[in-house]
Amino acid sequence: MSTPPTVSVSIVIPVYNEELNLPTLFARLYPVLDALGRRYEIIFTNDGSADRSFALLQAQHAARPDVTRVIDFNSNYGQHMAIMAAFERVRGDVIVTLDADLQNPPEEIPKLLEKIDAGFDYVGGYRLNRQDSFFRTYASRLINLVREKTTSIEMTDQGCMLRAYRRAIIDAIVRSGAINTFIPALAYSFSGNPTEVGVKHEERHAGVSNYSFYSLIRLNFDLITGFSIAPLQYFTMFAGLCSLGSLALVAVLFVRRFVFANLDGDAFGTFTLFGILFFLLSVAMIGIGLIGEYVGRTYQVVRARQRYHVRETLETKSS
Ligand code: UDP
Ligand code: MG
Repeated sequence: MSTPPTVSVSIVIPVYNEELNLPTLFARLYPVLDALGRRYEIIFTNDGSADRSFALLQAQHAARPDVTRVIDFNSNYGQHMAIMAAFERVRGDVIVTLDADLQNPPEEIPKLLEKIDAGFDYVGGYRLNRQDSFFRTYASRLINLVREKTTSIEMTDQGCMLRAYRRAIIDAIVRSGAINTFIPALAYSFSGNPTEVGVKHEERHAGVSNYSFYSLIRLNFDLITGFSIAPLQYFTMFAGLCSLGSLALVAVLFVRRFVFANLDGDAFGTFTLFGILFFLLSVAMIGIGLIGEYVGRTYQVVRARQRYHVRETLETKSS
């Protein structure tokens, strides 16, 4: 290629138990990047894999030391921490995040870079013909809806990790020192000129998703309470409505008792009251849980404990 390498690109890939996918990933990713005619680096974060992933990454680093960097965590801190660690070390002007399981084909990277070249500072991928289970697809649409109502973040597909960012956004993310964070949403909030492109989606090349139902729920809690306090405000509004409702109920009961005294079926009325009481009690408990979410978050930020521990990094000195 004769075009001068104007922009250098950092590819960031979190790896957790991906020994079955890594060989194919290497075989497909490097040729795509070599063909770009730009300077690039690939940063893999081994997120405490229990399989041979780290050995494979070591071998790859030995094979392509010029463009390969490996961060090795001492244990599993989750996909987003793995990406954060790489963000703190990137050298490129444009940063692309990618999953290791080949669900986002590496062949789509040039598409994202085109958009960056066209002047956008944030390029989100959204999955054309998503290849996930029916349940996951619809659950994530629902969460999308909730997120759009509670934050000002607009994303067609928050679950798609194939995204490109300009360096300034990544620097802002690193400076924000956010914990438990959902990176695409955080990046969006720092972007000035975002856009989206459709990218192909394939079935996981091998292995199963590392996300259990439980961890997806936790991630989505992060997404909703990590970006706004609107849920607290909605809750307060709802509580206001409830108290108006109970006031009306008291008025009805009062009239019933003193105007039409001694009605039949008062025992029934008692149980209705219990029903209402239990309902309100559960609403109150949800409220306590919600407040707890925010207090927990505040605690984590205030405590400012080291978010992850890097055991080793494989890299050649900065070029
Ligand atoms: N991943 C990680 N740490 C984890 C879980 C996942 O680094 O604790 C990586 C994983 O290796 C993959 C990406 O994050 O590169 C997405 O994970 P996965 O494919 O399991 O998620 P899904 O595609 O089902 O959302
Ligand atoms: Mg996947």
